[in-house]
Amino acid sequence: MLDLLIVGGGIVGAGIARDAAMRGMRVMLVEQRDFASGTSSRSSRLLHGGLRYLAQGRVGLVREAGREKQILRRIAPHLYRPLPFTFPTLPSGPWRRWKLGLGVRIYHLLCGGERPRVLSRDALLSQVEPLRRDRDWTGGVVYEDAQTSDARLVLDTLRSAELAGAELRSYTQLVGASRDGVGWRCQLARHEPWVSAEENAEESGEEEVAARCVVHATGPWMERLPESRTQLRLTKGVHLVISAERLPLTSAVVMSEGDRILFALPWGERVVLGTTDTDYRGPLEEPPCEPEDIEYILRIANDTFDASLASEDVTATWAGIRPLLASPGAAGKPSDTSRRHRIIAGDTGWWDVAGGKLTTYREMAEEAVDRVASQLGRRFPPCSTATTPLLERESAAHSGWLPPVVSRSVVEHCCRHEWTRHLDDLMIRRTAWHTYLHSPYETATQAAAWMAELLEWSDQQREQQLSAYRDVSNRGSSGVGL
Ligand SMILES: Cc1cc2nc3c(=O)[nH]c(=O)nc-3n(C[C@H](O)[C@H](O)[C@H](O)COP(=O)(O)OP(=O)(O)OC[C@H]3O[C@@H](n4cnc5c(N)ncnc54)[C@H](O)[C@@H]3O)c2cc1C
Repeated sequence: MLDLLIVGGGIVGAGIARDAAMRGMRVMLVEQRDFASGTSSRSSRLLHGGLRYLAQGRVGLVREAGREKQILRRIAPHLYRPLPFTFPTLPSGPWRRWKLGLGVRIYHLLCGGERPRVLSRDALLSQVEPLRRDRDWTGGVVYEDAQTSDARLVLDTLRSAELAGAELRSYTQLVGASRDGVGWRCQLARHEPWVSAEENAEESGEEEVAARCVVHATGPWMERLPESRTQLRLTKGVHLVISAERLPLTSAVVMSEGDRILFALPWGERVVLGTTDTDYRGPLEEPPCEPEDIEYILRIANDTFDASLASEDVTATWAGIRPLLASPGAAGKPSDTSRRHRIIAGDTGWWDVAGGKLTTYREMAEEAVDRVASQLGRRFPPCSTATTPLLERESAAHSGWLPPVVSRSVVEHCCRHEWTRHLDDLMIRRTAWHTYLHSPYETATQAAAWMAELLEWSDQQREQQLSAYRDVSNRGSSGVGL
């Protein structure tokens, strides 16, 4: 019997699997699609305390995220890229220079990094070349946060969990669970996309596993299982990718509109613009990037930069769903909804772990595994995830916040060591080639040929993979039409 079944292979589930396995529990994690295919490959990829939350008076949240950010810098230096942020200020509105100057000093105390600076208008304009000169900027501030690769953080956390003994299964869905005397009987079903339900059933059918405890970490899917006690408010966030030649930035730039802030983030030869924050009720798989999302982000970017960006400049997009905790009766703006996390107990031995941020996943995992340990009633060593490096040795094939150079050895590594089963697993989540490269479809064709050799696909299967990849891309969230 398992000590713990974890449902959901995003960053929260991955963090829990690593922590529990490192404490010596018998652990299995199931993910209904590819690892990190939910929100955890669709974020803004920042490790941050959140300057905006400080302005909202949420000091505890900022302190917690600041502490976790510094832990990640120690345990995963390959996934932590310190990044200066320039925040231009205007004479009116909520983001005045004097207020921000004070705010970034407090932020620095809570989150660490380089000392912040206050800029005059001249210093601002010489520092951020493409800023619009005809706007009445009063100057600005510079502070430090960090950039990461969200999907890679999940994958490296899972590799670490596997090394500690966790059993990990992708394309496996929890379809039902019932409590019996000592624990939970959990029905798992193989859930392979691109093939029919009959073929899925034929290949392996359903399976039942017994677990003393279940931790339910399904992000935006949290309300789908009847055992869940969590209520969510889902909001959508869209990102646009443009060529860095169109917007050459040496630092990240904060773009403000009223009390909202958006970012322009340098990403190698690309710049990422985002994000929106709107209530969402559509499908959870592949949320769409609508023309009005693109329009909104480009309008704010064009208010900030002298670049005349148009939709033709957008080379790729992605959209993600924030699994925020609903506060009863509070119908405020999506961006005012708390980013706190909660661990909610269901029937004995069942917990929902919901809300939170990529940055705070490790602490969420620690709290959840502490609850499991006390339910199991045996002695386990204390949590050591804050002090143990995420990986003993990084993969030479790829690591870090930038996509690896296209090569057969990268594809081979992903197929042999990182659970890569489909072309979109490789193109979108293992490598980010899909959103980074100028002609991703050419690379996908080459990569499909390599994968066909490695995974022994027939010509027909290779063609199916290419067309499925094209479908996912065209459905909207992961890229512009190919
Ligand atoms: C636009 C946007 C920008 C963001 N930017 C940042 C940022 O810059 N910094 C930051 O710290 N945070 C950021 N966040 C927040 C962060 O991305 C999320 O809090 C985090 O990724 C949520 O992880 P999760 O594991 O809870 O959910 P997910 O990553 O969605 O994982 C849940 C998984 O559960 C699986 N699942 C669902 N049902 C089942 C089932 N029945 N059986 C098996 N598996 C199942 C799903 O397929 C999914 O993969 C951002 C979020 C969004 C949307």
